[in-house]
Amino acid sequence: MIGGGVSGLLAARVLTESCDDVVVLERDRLSDQPEYRAGVPQGRHVHGLLVRGGQIMEELFPGLREELVDAGASLTDAGEARLLNRHGWLASAKTGLPLLTASRPLLETSIRLRVTAKIMDGVHVTGLSFRGSEVDGVLTRDGRVDADLVVDASGRSSKLARWLADAGIATPEPTVVDSCTGYATRLYTAPEGFPALIAELLAAPDHARGCAVMRVEGDRLMVTAQGAGGDHPPHDPDEYQEFLDSLRGPVADMLRAASPLTGVHRFARTASRRNAFEDAGGWPGGLVAVGDAVCAFNPVYGQGMTVAAMEALLFRGLSDFSAKGCRGFQREVAKTARAAWLLSSGADQGWTGDHRPGLGERAFAWYMEQWQIAITRDPRVFLRFIRVINMVDGPASLMKPVVFPRLYRAVRRG
Ligand SMILES: Cc1cc2nc3c(=O)[nH]c(=O)nc-3n(C[C@H](O)[C@H](O)[C@H](O)COP(=O)(O)OP(=O)(O)OC[C@H]3O[C@@H](n4cnc5c(N)ncnc54)[C@H](O)[C@@H]3O)c2cc1C
Repeated sequence: MIGGGVSGLLAARVLTESCDDVVVLERDRLSDQPEYRAGVPQGRHVHGLLVRGGQIMEELFPGLREELVDAGASLTDAGEARLLNRHGWLASAKTGLPLLTASRPLLETSIRLRVTAKIMDGVHVTGLSFRGSEVDGVLTRDGRVDADLVVDASGRSSKLARWLADAGIATPEPTVVDSCTGYATRLYTAPEGFPALIAELLAAPDHARGCAVMRVEGDRLMVTAQGAGGDHPPHDPDEYQEFLDSLRGPVADMLRAASPLTGVHRFARTASRRNAFEDAGGWPGGLVAVGDAVCAFNPVYGQGMTVAAMEALLFRGLSDFSAKGCRGFQREVAKTARAAWLLSSGADQGWTGDHRPGLGERAFAWYMEQWQIAITRDPRVFLRFIRVINMVDGPASLMKPVVFPRLYRAVRRG
């Protein structure tokens, strides 16, 4: 396994069910304490775990949820998240779906300490090793490691396409949809009774500024300001405050009772990027890729860790490490990420300016807009929607004719 981030750890957990010897090679030095680390710079920013991701992690590590709560994470009902879209506050309703909020370092470290695979830290993978047309291991700064199967889980900075190109294997150019979103995050004390999650959602093309505020362990609030279309939140604390003051919602007011605990950390590598590895001619045996290395999403939709968890489960069906088996696996990975990709990259086309939507896309955008209106007005419509954005149900649930009359009435009601 190249990379000990969320996708690498979850994939390693599933592979230990069928493989005797699973080794995770991680470039960073790792600690048993939740800490920010260089290989996961996004760890300083809000990481919302969608309900489906939480369910899979609980299945893979029974008792994880409770352990995280004991460590200070918050557990609420997904319907209690306070979300503001361009039409107003989303309705609230009891969903019965557990929403866990914690920092990324706490979540990742808790998973890592439960994985029984061998984890070697401080090991920088520099390339693939080939025997004929099959991958038979990886090259590292200090040598090489043999493997029957190499899994690339090295995230957004994956060099896989280049390593394959060096071996004469061409992969399709990645598809990139860049909303030019910037993040800036600061930790605050959490005032009594502050919600576990409150977010002001971005929406192209008018609402370029938003935020996500999440309660994390240590009675702290992680406040991530977000700006799309290049309108990035600033680093200077006073200007950061001005950015929060400029939002439509009440977050800046709600934070008056909170005190900042840290400076402001920024991040701007947020483009959605999809590698169609399943279409590469000559894909070798002994190699697969998962997680952000294949498909990285604009993080404002909070999909990455959940898609990684869904992909990890695919390893239960992988027993054929030949070129055919690995390519088939890559097709399943693409299928698993597809719905999340369509929802997020579709919504982000509005920021890119270089895209002329066809009739079908415009009709779909219009339909989704009706949902955006209806979820602020009707709790039952909201219930259906919240299950879809949390990936508990697939997007087809939004297309069922049975929902049309309710959707229509909710939109008309305004
Ligand atoms: C700003 C931001 C905010 C985000 N917010 C959310 C959110 O709210 N919810 C959500 O679900 N997802 C979020 N994500 C996405 C999430 O971080 C990833 O989708 C998720 O962690 C799965 O990524 P991964 O494991 O594939 O890669 P990563 O988590 O990036 O891990 C890759 C690992 O590989 C290691 N590595 C890299 N190269 C090498 C090498 N050559 N040799 C050895 N090791 C190597 C790295 O050190 C790292 O540990 C966010 C992402 C960003 C950028």
